[in-house]
Amino acid sequence: MPLILPQKSTKSVAADLRAFLGADKVRDDFPTLTAYAVDASIYRLVPRAVVLAELEDDIEQVLAYAVRSGVPVTPRAAGTNLTGSAIGTGIILDVSRLNRILEVNREERWARVQPGLIYAELNKRLAPDGLLFGPDPSSGDMCKLGGMLANNSAGPHTLRYGSVKDNVRALRVCLEAGGWMQARAFELDEPALAAVLARHPALKEILELVRAQADLIRTKRPTVSKNSSGYNLFGLVDGLDRGVYDLAKLFVGSEGTLGVISEATLALVERPAVTATALLHFRRLEEVGEAVVDLLALTPSALEILDTNTLDLIGRSAHGIPADAAATLLAEFDAGAGEGDGQAAIKATTDRMAARCGRYRLAAEPVVAFDREQREALWKARKALYPTLYRYDARRKPINFVDDVVVRAERLSELIRFLEDFFGRQRVPVAIFGHIGNGNAHIVPLLDVNDQEDFLRMVEGYRAIHETVLTQFGGSICGEHGDGRVRAEWVRRMFGEELYALFGRVKRSLDPAGILNPGVKLSDRPFTEHIDTVRLSKACATCGKCNSVCPVYDVFESEDMSSRGWFEIVTAKDYSYLNSKRVVEACLNCKSCRAICPADVDVSDLILKRRAEHPNRLAGLIFTMHAKPWLFEPLLKLAARTQVWWDRPGPRGWLERLTRPMLRHLADTARVPREMVLPRLAARHLRDRYPELIPGGAGTTRPAVAYFHGCAANYFDDGVGDAIIGVLRALGIEVALPPQRCSGTPMQTYGQVDLTLQAARFNLASLAPYETIVTGCASCTLMLKDYPRLFDAGPEREAAERLARKVRHISETIADTPGALETVARGTGALGRVTYHSSCHLRAAGVTMAPRRVLSRLPGADYVEMQDADRCAGGAGTYIVKDYDTGQKIFARKHRAIEESRADIVATSCPACMIQLNNGLRGRARVAHVAQLVHEALSAGAADRPAGVPRT
Ligand SMILES: Cc1cc2nc3c(=O)[nH]c(=O)nc-3n(C[C@H](O)[C@H](O)[C@H](O)COP(=O)(O)OP(=O)(O)OC[C@H]3O[C@@H](n4cnc5c(N)ncnc54)[C@H](O)[C@@H]3O)c2cc1C
Ligand code: SF4
Ligand code: SF4
Repeated sequence: MPLILPQKSTKSVAADLRAFLGADKVRDDFPTLTAYAVDASIYRLVPRAVVLAELEDDIEQVLAYAVRSGVPVTPRAAGTNLTGSAIGTGIILDVSRLNRILEVNREERWARVQPGLIYAELNKRLAPDGLLFGPDPSSGDMCKLGGMLANNSAGPHTLRYGSVKDNVRALRVCLEAGGWMQARAFELDEPALAAVLARHPALKEILELVRAQADLIRTKRPTVSKNSSGYNLFGLVDGLDRGVYDLAKLFVGSEGTLGVISEATLALVERPAVTATALLHFRRLEEVGEAVVDLLALTPSALEILDTNTLDLIGRSAHGIPADAAATLLAEFDAGAGEGDGQAAIKATTDRMAARCGRYRLAAEPVVAFDREQREALWKARKALYPTLYRYDARRKPINFVDDVVVRAERLSELIRFLEDFFGRQRVPVAIFGHIGNGNAHIVPLLDVNDQEDFLRMVEGYRAIHETVLTQFGGSICGEHGDGRVRAEWVRRMFGEELYALFGRVKRSLDPAGILNPGVKLSDRPFTEHIDTVRLSKACATCGKCNSVCPVYDVFESEDMSSRGWFEIVTAKDYSYLNSKRVVEACLNCKSCRAICPADVDVSDLILKRRAEHPNRLAGLIFTMHAKPWLFEPLLKLAARTQVWWDRPGPRGWLERLTRPMLRHLADTARVPREMVLPRLAARHLRDRYPELIPGGAGTTRPAVAYFHGCAANYFDDGVGDAIIGVLRALGIEVALPPQRCSGTPMQTYGQVDLTLQAARFNLASLAPYETIVTGCASCTLMLKDYPRLFDAGPEREAAERLARKVRHISETIADTPGALETVARGTGALGRVTYHSSCHLRAAGVTMAPRRVLSRLPGADYVEMQDADRCAGGAGTYIVKDYDTGQKIFARKHRAIEESRADIVATSCPACMIQLNNGLRGRARVAHVAQLVHEALSAGAADRPAGVPRT
């Protein structure tokens, strides 16, 4: 098929598109084109323009334009495919903003959804109804339904629930020839089918082709349990045998090359009522094949394998894997809600499994877990895989080019032996893992594609492994990831000339202009074309995981406003602050990306470094003043004493207008909106209220513990600082308030490196004499722990490392002090329903469980975990001022989660989050610091305690 080579320039394509879609939905600036040039594959292709579709009509118009102008279109959802199928040189049609659940039918168990919806979001929303969309790719937190449908995705539980093609009832598809169609299984004699065929002659042509070539299609059908290669004409033939034209089967797995999906009706299953997970360590790989057949007879819902190389790579001791294990199997068994006594049934199954395993040489007794936490611990080794691969080496990276082969399940161990020998001869480290129950192996070698020899090894492996899978194993080159660009070259080899020609005719029928994702699925171009060797030498694996937690991506739903996109932009050779200012200034510095990145990349830090090249002058002025307490604090106290006067609607309107021109120097969007609920300022600062705790004051001795209160607890009249001091005293911990400056987070956020370093040096010197530094503020906690990152190797870095080791958040202090939780639990209270908003910086500092442990012990409190507890609330330091409107959009999701939790109190530990929560909730629920609730419980307990009864 001739590839269209568009003559139109980038500018004219975008201008044409803007003319009918409007400016907001079309982008072609440097950051956008850079961010959309990649997906999670090894390739890079720069598009001409990006369209952010919001309506079905946008899709239709873009396709019509593409046909008129000969510019190709690549549909795109989350861009997490591993094959290069969501990048292209024409228009990227991003469907992320079409992300609603349109309808759920509980009784008939189906949901109608849009393609931009994230898989995990769908299942979260279905959970209260006890329903589930079954196919579960490991990328489920970030991938979207459009991509899953177009790739026919699958996952560990495909063994029980099937892959996407088995779980789709209908699709709504926009065809290139114009107009929309409902792709479902039509009875052959159904009048509706006749109407569809009359309206879309291409579908009639395909029906006739498939009828005529049914025998050929049957002969060439892969004989393995899973296949996503080629077009699913096999599904069409199966349908015809049943008297239906099953059009959904044609479009699922077609990778955006036949039409664009705007809606899908998905079949749902009941959530399992009981699940058991088992880990089996085999000494001999040869026995695994037979064992798999044995285990499949017990109908597991998942059966996964990690080979010996993979076990070595993830570290055996870290995961309790015996040194002599040649392979580890992970088996999972589900019992549905309607399956009698699920618990007993599952126990009986796992007993049978253990008995069957008796005939194999296991390196350890089978481990079986029933409760959620223990089961998750068993999955830990499997989940540790990506971080291990991504962090393996600065040069050698996991390269996906033979990543998804399928053989018959019982022959998988034979294939693994072949692969281990093959890569052993090449001296290439490799991880081999996957869904052994389906015979689907993921093969991920670690290579430096910039090294000529490794490059040749990759080419050799590509051909040898695919050839072996086809000829010796009768398998498939692709089980679930799609053909994309990486396997397109091999599809002809897999299916033979005749069937390949038929695929070509199907493609030409539906895409005569050749504008739908050319180069993907059917192509003779070598797989080595467009490999992004520059990117493959960088740290980011473009997996897209960070996008799934980035609050900015959540709001804008476009790759140029996302963590992964920003990595691409700020590390691009053509980057300049001027061509990328709008995106570089949009990051909240919430650090959610850092906390989740399996490759240990800190995108926010890269952005801060770029900002530091253009430090914000107004912020510099403010923080310079702030470092002079004799100047700054009297002004703040004056503002506190007069707050009752100026913090009212009228004066606040003036304040907003008067401060706006100045705040523009902070950011174009910066303002203090009149409606924003400000914190109450303290007329007497915390340090004024506790002079006896300031070292060097009359009669003070230096205790071992310092409280780093930070700015907010000192300046705001919010009770947080008093509560922390009160709690520490109640626990018998003597505390000092040594001199301190702002920890540095806000200065760093505005690119003020010198001021950040000055503040850090001051704090390092002041805090050095103490054994423990207790913090209350999430951002201060993280910044103090991060001080080592500010300094080059040497005495200052060492001092910073010493300090970082001593920092303890107050919730950790309470949770870890012997007897403290019991003391808290013995307090008094009637708090009602309490939930927790986990501040991003505290999560990034590694403090996640302690606050929850403390809250769940509060007397009179019914602790509930809210959905999205770990998502940013949109306050992020001064972001609420820098971009109030975006902050509010980010908060909308948190607001919904709080509403759904029906909590009376939202506990947190970050002053910025408290401001944002108070502003957003407007009294709907009380907002409190964790320490405040503890302090209240302890104080009430003390008040209730009869005289003479000791505190602990
Ligand atoms: C760490 C990691 C683990 C993974 N694990 C798995 C796994 O276990 N199982 C698995 O199957 N995959 C896995 N994948 C691959 C990938 O995540 C899945 O294939 C996923 O379903 C792709 O979804 P997406 O939203 O990212 O799609 P994209 O990458 O955006 O697009 C994929 C394809 O869908 C097409 N497309 C998107 N939307 C539409 C639409 N509306 N209409 C028509 N075509 C459309 C695109 O053109 C492209 O061809 C993994 C990827 C990563 C990075
Ligand atoms: S920064 Fe990390 S999480 Fe984000 S895409 Fe890159 S590797 Fe994945
Ligand atoms: S710091 Fe937050 S806003 Fe910035 S890129 Fe990371 S996740 Fe996104």
